[in-house]
Amino acid sequence: MTFRYIPVIGLEIHVQLSTATKIFCPCSTDYIGAEPNTNVCPVCLGLPGSLPVLNKKAVELGVRAGLALSCTIKNHSVFHRKNYFYPDLPKAYQISQYDLPLAEGGEIFIPGDDGRPRRIRITRLHLEEDAGKLVHSAADGRLEGAAFSFVDYNRGGVPLAEIVSEPDITSPGEAREYVARIRQTMRYLGVSDGDMERGSLRVDANVSVKKTDEATGEVLCWGERTEIKNMNSLRAVERALQYEIRRQTAVLAEGGSLERETRHWNDGEGVTTSMRSKEAADDYRYFPDPDIPPIVVTEELLESTRNALPELPWTKEGRFAEKYGLPETDAAFMAESLPVALYFEECVKSGASPLRAANWIRTEVFRVMNEKGFSMDSFPVKPSALAELVSLVDGGKLSTTVAREVFARLAEGRSFKDALEAAGASPGGLSSEDVEKMVERVLRANGDVVEEIRSGRDPKGKKIKFLAGLVMREARGQADVAAISGILERRLKEDR
Ligand SMILES: [Zn+2]
Repeated sequence: MTFRYIPVIGLEIHVQLSTATKIFCPCSTDYIGAEPNTNVCPVCLGLPGSLPVLNKKAVELGVRAGLALSCTIKNHSVFHRKNYFYPDLPKAYQISQYDLPLAEGGEIFIPGDDGRPRRIRITRLHLEEDAGKLVHSAADGRLEGAAFSFVDYNRGGVPLAEIVSEPDITSPGEAREYVARIRQTMRYLGVSDGDMERGSLRVDANVSVKKTDEATGEVLCWGERTEIKNMNSLRAVERALQYEIRRQTAVLAEGGSLERETRHWNDGEGVTTSMRSKEAADDYRYFPDPDIPPIVVTEELLESTRNALPELPWTKEGRFAEKYGLPETDAAFMAESLPVALYFEECVKSGASPLRAANWIRTEVFRVMNEKGFSMDSFPVKPSALAELVSLVDGGKLSTTVAREVFARLAEGRSFKDALEAAGASPGGLSSEDVEKMVERVLRANGDVVEEIRSGRDPKGKKIKFLAGLVMREARGQADVAAISGILERRLKEDR
């Protein structure tokens, strides 16, 4: 009998909601770079006698996210206290949602490993507060070997939406696609900036491996699952899962057994290491928070949120392909982020051909953005200017080479007219008389070539092409090649 080991993966994604203040107090959520323990108050420090007040905006963002993930929004949900004792949680409990979460039962589609869409079910989306942050004093920042630790509560009480998937993911590649899709969706919705490096989107993975009979597909043994923490990039999610699946498969293949535990991903060494044995739900002793009334989502809020949902990335991608005839990869690229999508459509609205606009955005716009460190929002070349440039190229009035130069000048913040002049192109394009004069000059300066053509020593037309090239160079690409060749051929015959 040959065995096949199939991974079973479920993800929990913590999304930091883009609110100005924390979930239960008026402290600022803007803690990046803030002096430790300055964005705090008695509520988020968990001082006795302080009372939490729910931030309405956090609920609205949670509802928006839930709707976009096709979840059912519960009109009645409850906050619980999740008890555990950690130094980064001064109350010794975290306010979270337990059996009555804000949203349940959604789905999202991702590209599967075989390229076909795969449906990943969403178990639930619930709201909770973030914990503080421990800073360990060991030189390499690791807990191990630290002489002592500091606690910064600035992040404590920042609102999170936790999105829990069903164990529908069957490979590290799919896990990566899923996280990317969720992140993209949250950004589209304006629910979160989704910055994984800064911790505003954090992923925990539950992974196990089932041993099956290769021939019959019968499941012979379910491996115990582990939870992996500390993956702070898409690449880390993929690598950590690859490692963990290999590790679990090897243990099962040798007839060993796995322990239910929480493991830490060490990105530098590329391994997961055991952190602690995994707590079960009853270890947390959940009970309803007596200080916070239930969340009631009214029909009005539901309706207005539903109406205000933006076009979601997958819908936009499909529309770009259909309406503008973009190839799949271009459509995906243009819909990848909302600012890029808006820029692209603005370009098209200003008269650029969709294919040409998409091509310019993928290459030139992104090249200049990367080189100069611009974001799409602050990009100095307005979509209308790019559209004008693209139209000049399409109309044969400008070569792509010169257009790139003009574009580079536009990106320096110059006006369209200045940019054209700086690139050596004339703003009004060239008149046919201008082109005639250029042809004349080129013919006169290349008498020997002209003589060769006239005496029939250019059967393949290579020399005419050479002359046309010289005229193009003189025209700074602002003339149509076909027009130049036409004039050249006429003149070469005329003067015979
Ligand atoms: Zn506070």
